[in-house]
Amino acid sequence: MKKLYVFLGPPGSGKGTQAQLLRDSLDCVVVSTGDLLREEIKRATVLGKKIQAVVESGGLVPDEFLIAIVEPLLSGLNQKSGAVIFDGFPRTVGQAEQFDQLLTSLGRSIEHVLYFDASLDLVLERINGRRICSDCSRTYHVAYVPPKQADVCDDCGHALIVRDDDQADVVRKRYQAYCEQTAILRSYYADRCVVIDTSRTLDSITQMVQETFGCGHRS
Ligand code: AMP
Repeated sequence: MKKLYVFLGPPGSGKGTQAQLLRDSLDCVVVSTGDLLREEIKRATVLGKKIQAVVESGGLVPDEFLIAIVEPLLSGLNQKSGAVIFDGFPRTVGQAEQFDQLLTSLGRSIEHVLYFDASLDLVLERINGRRICSDCSRTYHVAYVPPKQADVCDDCGHALIVRDDDQADVVRKRYQAYCEQTAILRSYYADRCVVIDTSRTLDSITQMVQETFGCGHRS
């Protein structure tokens, strides 16, 4: 991998959307631990059954399960030619410390952490319009990032759905988990953290993110 980036922020802050836009325009791989965990739940694996209740209620999955998912991926990612973006991982200080150790053992480190700052009100408004592809997990927003055809994924043609954990009461719990356990990572990564103000327009957020990646603005 050329460079490694971490996207941090509350649910609905737009980090997944920005990761998708970069994947569309650059040679890069996006690792979303939320997508990986949802896949485990969908396939009803041993891990999926263990974590289903906590994901659906808006809590954080224990650190050891995240490390068990991420560790085996790292050496393969290290062979990739382009950039790698971690979307939604790490989310706790424990995960961040173990991630640092794994990266050090590979002679790697995180280039930048993009911290997508968003208030609870903004998150609730954004998540209200969020849709996800039932097959490939691509994310849309009915107003800001609409699919070409209503309720159909542009990439694979499958139906768009509302995520189970995007209900307002679960979003509040996810936001609380973020405030209690993830927001502190902004200071943990203070030496390489770029804060993105997500109350700005989608275009200006995209511009700021792409400038951090050194690839300018694509409208
Ligand atoms: P996301 O798609 O990133 O919003 O993640 C959806 C859900 O998956 C979260 O609300 C958590 O329950 C779980 N999850 C994803 N990534 C992590 C992580 N790094 N640590 C703990 N739980 C996670």
